Amino acid sequence: MTRLIDGRAIAAEIADEVKGLVARAPRPPRLAVVLPSDDEAAGWYVRSIQRTASRVGIGCQVDELFEAGASVIARRLDVLSSDPDVDGIICQTPLPSGLRLTDVGSHIAPGKDVDGANPVSLGRLASGMPSFAPATAAAVLEILQREHVRLTGARAVVVGRSIVVGKPAALLLLAQDATVTVCHSRTADLAAVCASADVLVAAVGRARMIGAEYIKPGAVVIDVGTNPDPSGGDGLVGDVAADEAGAAEALTPVPGGVGPVTTMMLMLHTARAAAG
Ligand code: NAP
Repeated sequence: MTRLIDGRAIAAEIADEVKGLVARAPRPPRLAVVLPSDDEAAGWYVRSIQRTASRVGIGCQVDELFEAGASVIARRLDVLSSDPDVDGIICQTPLPSGLRLTDVGSHIAPGKDVDGANPVSLGRLASGMPSFAPATAAAVLEILQREHVRLTGARAVVVGRSIVVGKPAALLLLAQDATVTVCHSRTADLAAVCASADVLVAAVGRARMIGAEYIKPGAVVIDVGTNPDPSGGDGLVGDVAADEAGAAEALTPVPGGVGPVTTMMLMLHTARAAAG
């Protein structure tokens, strides 16, 4: 029987660590969120960041810059980067059309880049230097480590190569001595590649794409996907067809898996940024 990994319980454990860092800080750490669109899902996510921040004693300001151009967003990120009262900065996606995160991310000071949006942060991660990984990728690794999943020598397959999830998750797994394969929309024999994985990370954005034939018996499966329910239900569904994942030893559910850990990783990164 597949064990469901409780992301909320893991987030609560991390919250205790965050509160410890906050208690030792000279002033409450502060997170600034730049919100450049009135996208409904982004607004929901930012409100959940605010609620989580207030629970762990981190101040959180939201700067709404709806439909601003690249130069306005970049200027605000510059100002926040040099503000001594701000410890962490996020530029929430989606950005106004035509803008990419890499266009503005470089205006977030690397020391405050708690969601790894500055290409310098990804470069430092790839180089084995201290940096903040994007919170979702960091959540993937944190879950595996807190679940005591053996990564050294393990075969890890990451489906998805975005700069916010797939690539940094692969780099983090590689740094833990896993043997990592990164898959994408042009990968041949995707199911067979996935079925070789001891650790399978699905970060695709396609509801229930990962079925039984993708999962090696005994694998640990981390489902990053958050997709509208194709059968018309209200909730979100993952990239993994959970009802077909019976061969897995463990699986993160959607919701209640990677999501709550991701939000808490932003808090942990902010508290660490404040600690210097
Ligand atoms: P993305 O930028 O759209 O990247 C998706 C990746 O999946 C791309 O690399 C794409 O390949 C690959 N892909 C698409 N269709 C495929 C197919 N049929 N077979 C194999 N690979 C395929 O998405 P993202 O931002 O990384 O997000 C991925 C998922 O994670 C989404 O569901 C998103 O909502 C979710 N997410 C969750 C959290 C959380 O906290 N839980 C946070 C962020 C994202 P190509 O590169 O070849 O196009």
